[in-house]
Amino acid sequence: MRKFVKLIGFLVIILYGCALDPDKIEVENFESIVELETVEKQEIKTDESELVKSQLVPMLEAIDNNDEEGFLEFQNSANSLFYKEQKRWMEEAIFKKEQGYTFTVNIGEVNLMSSEKGDVELIVNMKYQDKETQNKVIYSIVKLNNKWVIDDVPFKTISEGNIAVLYVSELEEEALTVLREASDIVHLYNNEFGWTPKDMTIKLYDSREQISATIPWTGSTGWNETGESLKLMIEPSGPSTSLSTLTILAHELAHQMLSDFSNDNASLYIQEGFATLLQHVVEKDGEGKLLINLNNLPYREHKLLSNRDLVFYSIDELNKLDYTKTFEIYGLGFLLTDYLIKSHGFDKFMTMVKELMNEPYIDSRVEHKLQITSERTTRAIEKVYGSTDQVSDGYINYFTNKQ
Ligand SMILES: [Zn+2]
Repeated sequence: MRKFVKLIGFLVIILYGCALDPDKIEVENFESIVELETVEKQEIKTDESELVKSQLVPMLEAIDNNDEEGFLEFQNSANSLFYKEQKRWMEEAIFKKEQGYTFTVNIGEVNLMSSEKGDVELIVNMKYQDKETQNKVIYSIVKLNNKWVIDDVPFKTISEGNIAVLYVSELEEEALTVLREASDIVHLYNNEFGWTPKDMTIKLYDSREQISATIPWTGSTGWNETGESLKLMIEPSGPSTSLSTLTILAHELAHQMLSDFSNDNASLYIQEGFATLLQHVVEKDGEGKLLINLNNLPYREHKLLSNRDLVFYSIDELNKLDYTKTFEIYGLGFLLTDYLIKSHGFDKFMTMVKELMNEPYIDSRVEHKLQITSERTTRAIEKVYGSTDQVSDGYINYFTNKQ
């Protein structure tokens, strides 16, 4: 798509050249004046851009010093969702440093459209052991009360009901698809589980680097946390080897639903297990209407059970897993959820999840409150299904017999 835009730019230049051709002498004069003005303007612009860059340096220092307040002074507080996400961004940066990451941010190019608007490129460098990543994102900047602050990526917006899709300009077609499919899934989850979501914002990015820089994460193509927007990386057009948007949305909206039903207190393996389950069972019928088809489950079970790396963990062991153990969290979380739903139904599963509504909300990302959500989920499982040792034996025996 980007190549396409550049090609249009090139054609426009050629056409201008043709139009000016008959009056060559005047054209040359005209061009030299334009060139002179452009050079002067560029110099002024460069000076201003450098000034903006220098004004943003304290933000980089705040990042280095884990100074959340100082960092937030450079974020546009009028954009409340973005501001919240930037707060979480800073908390993630501090968390990653605690985990042993080397974490630095640099300012790239600054472009000014006017004396009050422009954009800035931020380069997020993350290094963990011998793995180093560099993710870049372009944010809008606005001058408020004589101070430049960062605003979100320059998005366009479409919305329907309480779902808004924000997208970078070349993803218009994909944004329409995402809006339609998200509405359909919400409708399905409303019918099946009685979920009525609050206002929902989905942000679409066109590269892994861009979305990762906004989290910040070394490499991510999707992001979902309560209180933040749902972020998705969409490859613009062309054949894609990745999952369909319907599958991704079925997964991510399942997270939002569980979070709403549990005050965001469900443990990570229950969250990922349930979202993975729904991602495999939501499908379209012949008329394009969405439905839940549990007959799709054996295919996913078989794939997991035939994996040589699969080792069963009890709920007690799942509770102790670090958030980076994704194979275990997603795989065993899926098998445990699958077992609970097949043997006792969706209703009982949701009763267990809704038990967690009685627990207070903790305003942080899931991986920052793993231990407490695991403890709370264990209590809810015990209340609704009985002893977690027995539930653990139940799911392990059920799937060991299928192996
Ligand atoms: Zn997930």
